[in-house]
Amino acid sequence: MTDRGRQIMDGDFDYLIVGSGSSGSVLAARLAEAGKRVLVLEAGGSDRRFFVQMPLGYGKLFYDPRVNWAYRTEADPGLAGNSDYWPRGKVLGGSSSINAMVWIRGDASDYEDWQAATGSDHWGWETVRAAYRAIEDNADGADAWRGQGGPLHIRSGRVPAHPLVGPFLDACAAAGLPRNADFNGERQEGAGLYQLTIKGGRRNSAARAFLRPALKTGRVAITLKAHVTRILFEGNRAIGVEYARGGQRHQARAGEVILSGGAINTPQLLMLSGIGPGAALAAQGIEVRLDQPNVGRHLNDHQGINYTYRMTVPTMNDILRPWWGKALVGMQYLLTGKGPLSVSINHAGGFFRTDPALNRPNMQLYFQAFSTLMPREGERPILSPDPFPGLSIGLSNCRPTSRGEIALASPDPFAAPRITANAFSTESDVAEMLAAVKFIRQIAAQKPIADVIAEELRPGPGTEGDEALIADFRARSGTVFHPSCTARMGADPATSVVDSDLRVRGVQGLRVCDASAFPTLIGGNTNAPAILMGWLGAERILATAPGRG
Ligand SMILES: Cc1cc2nc3c(=O)[nH]c(=O)nc-3n(C[C@H](O)[C@H](O)[C@H](O)COP(=O)(O)OP(=O)(O)OC[C@H]3O[C@@H](n4cnc5c(N)ncnc54)[C@H](O)[C@@H]3O)c2cc1C
Repeated sequence: MTDRGRQIMDGDFDYLIVGSGSSGSVLAARLAEAGKRVLVLEAGGSDRRFFVQMPLGYGKLFYDPRVNWAYRTEADPGLAGNSDYWPRGKVLGGSSSINAMVWIRGDASDYEDWQAATGSDHWGWETVRAAYRAIEDNADGADAWRGQGGPLHIRSGRVPAHPLVGPFLDACAAAGLPRNADFNGERQEGAGLYQLTIKGGRRNSAARAFLRPALKTGRVAITLKAHVTRILFEGNRAIGVEYARGGQRHQARAGEVILSGGAINTPQLLMLSGIGPGAALAAQGIEVRLDQPNVGRHLNDHQGINYTYRMTVPTMNDILRPWWGKALVGMQYLLTGKGPLSVSINHAGGFFRTDPALNRPNMQLYFQAFSTLMPREGERPILSPDPFPGLSIGLSNCRPTSRGEIALASPDPFAAPRITANAFSTESDVAEMLAAVKFIRQIAAQKPIADVIAEELRPGPGTEGDEALIADFRARSGTVFHPSCTARMGADPATSVVDSDLRVRGVQGLRVCDASAFPTLIGGNTNAPAILMGWLGAERILATAPGRG
C-alpha cells in the first residue's frame, strides 16, 4: 500500500489528509467518490496484523507501540495523583483498528447540542440520523433509525456472547433499568446488547470499511509510516506538509490540507505549526503564526471504573485462562470465525440516569463476562484473565463537566504532547460518579445475578460510605479512551477553532476533521461520531471547496 497511487503526481492532489483514522478514512473515501484526488499520510504502518483483525486481539494491541501512540497523562490530582495511560491507534485505521468496537451514536439530543454550538443544521439530529442510516449496514436490518446497505457493516446486537448476559440484564431490570433492544434506536436509556463494528468475525475498522475500498477508485494514495511534522504555508494559506519517513524529511502539497490526526495529535500539529496559544508557543521557541488560545483547550473525555466479582459459575475466565481453553477457542476462531475471540470485551451494557430529573442518561454501563484483576507486564490481560470465575461491571460518565488540555511539552514533533486530563475536577462529576457506583452495587444485589455472585472482589465490601467510595474511584478510574473537542467546531470564534465547515479560522486552505472538532462530547463511545465527522465533513468540504460559490 505504501506509495500506492504514485501515478498521481505530488502536487496534483486536491486534498491532503493527515491521519487514516476513523474520520480520515471516511473522509478520504467520500472525497474520492466525489472525483477528488486525495493523498493520505499516516504515521503508523499496515493494519494487516492478526491481533488487529481478531476482535479479542484488543488486549494485545493495548500497549503495543507498533500500533499505538501509548500516551501518558500528567499526574492527575483528580485520579489520586495517578498518571493515566492513553492508548491511541498508530496504524492504518487509527483508533478504529485498536478499539473495543462498540457502535454507539449517542443520544439524539447530543446532536441538538452540536446544532446549537455550530449554529448549523448540517450538524443537527435530522441530518445526522440520515447520515448514520446511509453509513450503516446493520445486521439487524433497517428501520427509522438503523440503516442497511451502507459501507459499514455492524454486527447484530441480538446475539448474546455469554450465558451470564441474560441474568445481568434481568438484574438491571430488577434494579429499575429495563431492556433496550437498540441503544441507537428511538431511545438510548435501558440495558441490552451492544452493536459492534465486526464483520464475519473480523474487526471492521474505518480502514477496512472505507479506505481500502476507496483505493480501487485510483484517486486515493496512501503513504504509511509518514509522520507529519508541520504544516507548510505560503503567506496565510496552507499548501502542504512536511513529513518524516525512513529517517528523511519530505514535503507533500495539495489544494487543501485536512488534519485528521485525532484529538491529541491534531492540536499538537497545529501548535507545532505556530497555531495555538501564542505565549505558550513562544515559550517553546515556536514562531507564532496565529495566536489561537482554543487549540488544545476544552479537552473532554469519559472516565470509567470497573467493579469486579468472584462468581460461583463459570465465566469466560474459565475458558480463556487455561492453555487447553486457549487452544480450543483459538481453533474455534480459526476454523469458524466464531466464539469468544470473535466479539468485543463488552458483552452488554446500558445507559442510565443517576437522577430521575435529568432529561437524558448521564451514565453508560459495560458488562464483561470475565475479570482481569491480575496485571500482566505489557499486556491488558484479556486473553489471560484471572484464574477463578469472575466478571466485571463497569461504567463511565456521559457528559462530564471537567475539562483538560493538550499542550506542547517540547517543540520536537516526535515528543509526546503534555496531556492534562483534570478528571473529576468538578463537584458535579464526583457526585454523579458516586451515585453511579452505588447503582452498580444495586444491580449486583438483584436476582438472578446475585444468586451466582460469590463476593465483590474490587473494591470489596469493606469500601463503604461516600468518602471511601469516592477515594476508591479516584484511585482506580481512568479514561475510557474518548478524548475530544481539542480543536472544536463552533459558531463563536472566541471559543472555537474551526467553523461549521471545519475551516481553521484565521488561515486559509486548512481544516480539521476528527474527534478534536467535536463541538461537545457525545454521551456514548466516540468511534461512530468520528466516522460521522468524516462522512458529514466530506459534504461540508465539497460544498465549500475553494473556487465554489
Ligand atoms: C483502546 C481504545 C478503545 C476504544 N473503544 C471504543 C469503542 O469500543 N467504541 C467506540 O465507539 N470508540 C472507542 N474508542 C474511541 C474511538 O476509537 C476514537 O474516538 C476514534 O477512533 C477517534 O477517531 P479519530 O479519527 O479522531 O482519530 P484516530 O482514529 O485515532 O486517527 C488518527 C490517525 O492519525 C494518525 N496520525 C496522528 N498524528 C499524525 C501525524 N503527525 N502524521 C501522520 N499521521 C498521524 C494516527 O496514527 C491515527 O491513525 C476507543 C479508543 C481506544 C484507543
